[in-house]
Order: sequence, then structure tokens, then C-alpha cells
Amino acid sequence: MQKTWVFPRFFVLTRAIRWRKVFLPYREDDMFDFKDERYNRQIAMPEWGPDRQARLASARVAVIGAGGVKSSLLMALVAAGIGHIRLVEFDHVDLSNLNRQVLYRTSDIGQQKGIRAQATLQDLNPEVDIELVNEKLTSSNIEALLGGYQFIVEGGDSPAGRNLVNTFSLGAQIPFVHASAQFSYGYVFSVVPEEQTACFACFFPRDYTREEHTGPVPVNVLSTLVAGTLGAAEVLRWCLGYRDRMTTNRRVCFSSLLLSSEFTTEFQPRRLDCPVCSKFYR
Ligand SMILES: [Zn+2]
Repeated sequence: MQKTWVFPRFFVLTRAIRWRKVFLPYREDDMFDFKDERYNRQIAMPEWGPDRQARLASARVAVIGAGGVKSSLLMALVAAGIGHIRLVEFDHVDLSNLNRQVLYRTSDIGQQKGIRAQATLQDLNPEVDIELVNEKLTSSNIEALLGGYQFIVEGGDSPAGRNLVNTFSLGAQIPFVHASAQFSYGYVFSVVPEEQTACFACFFPRDYTREEHTGPVPVNVLSTLVAGTLGAAEVLRWCLGYRDRMTTNRRVCFSSLLLSSEFTTEFQPRRLDCPVCSKFYR
């Protein structure tokens, strides 16, 4: 009974495939006739294409830190073919990094993060120019390290560090993305000074005067991977030319990723009384 049911179904399926090949103008394997090239899968996307890929190849992005969120973010930028990345990182790899900082291996413990990250990323894509700066970002070197870049990936691990980048970016008119992960939640938003969008202090008005380091927080690999990927999307959007699609005046949040995978958008218009951006915006 079962055999007589299976055979006609198989027969109908094979005939349908043959008729489809005869009557349809193209076949799926004709549509995607990929050459064996690094970027062919993304260039074939209508919203990407060769012109935007060329734009990406000439992009210059500064990335502060190469920790958890920055691991997936950097891997995405390098795989996609960003032309030049300046990586500012001075820390060393610890065993406690390895649950979420997927750029590193157990054999990297004790070594400089920047050097290991650069080696891994360069191996992923030798076409990307990755410049390592083994320094801590300060108010005295920020102009020299970030000035002239097209986009900044903010990565301060303290309120003071984040406010330093926020203030610099507003003054230098360089957009930046803030991607953050703690516990099983996180969020991403961009600040675009030339559009006078809400700045970091508009989002976190109580943080801009804080100086103390908050210290380590619980976090897992799901949060860092997702936050890094969403952050990379901001950078790629900007560099590919989708500048009207940035996550500004709002943040994309994910909560309880481990248990629920819920995404929400929280709107945050610019605060007219913001003590930081009101000095730069008219
Ligand atoms: Zn502000």
C-alpha cells in the first residue's frame, strides 16, 4: 500500500521538475552563476552591487577595542571588505574573555589582543588594510587617533571613555555607533552629528558626568554576537551609502536573548537641554 503511494508522488515530482525546466525562462542554477570570487555572493544582491562594494573598499573606519561586541563586529566588517580599519586596542587576552570574544583562542591567553585580533582578521581577509594602534584612547591622543575617519565604532568600557568619544565625534562631525551587550540583553544606536541626532548623553543623561569604571558585568556570547552584528550593520549601511537608514534618535534593543529573543525599538529624540550636544548643535 505504501509503495504504490510513494512511487506516483516521486514520478509526479520528477516530471514537474522537467516541465519547469522546459517552460520557465530560466532555472535557479542559471540565476546564480557565481564566479569563484571573494565578494560575489554579496555583490549579487540588488541592494549591494559592484558600485557599493567599491565604495566599501575605499571606506576608512576606526574601531575602539576588540572585545566581545567588537569581535563579531570586526569579523563582519573585514569579511564584507571594508577598505581600511584602524584598531585601537591595548589589552591582553584573559581566559575569562573566551566565553564571548570569539576573535581569540585558548592559545592566545596572555598575548596582546590587538596583535592576535589583527592576525585573525588579516587571515580572514588579506585585502583589508588593518592598522593596529596599541594605545589607550585619551583626551590627548583622540584627535590623532580618530581624526579624519569616516566612521567610528565607539568602544569605551567606562562612562568617561564613551563620553570622550561622544564629545570628540560631535566636534569633529564624525558619526559613530554604540553597540553594547550585558547579561542577555543589549542595544545599538548611531549618532550622526551632521544630522544633529540624539547624542550619547541624550540617551544616557545621568552618565555623562560619571568618571568611575563600572567593572565587569555578566554577559554571554549570544549578546555579544548579536550586538556586534547589529553594530556592523550600522557601519556597513553608512559606508555602502544608506545614510538615511541609520538607527538614530532610537535604539534597537534585544532583551533576554537567551530565553525569549525579543527585539524592541526605544525612541530617544535629541534633548534640547542636553549639556553635551547643545554645545555643538544649533
Ligand atoms: Zn545630546
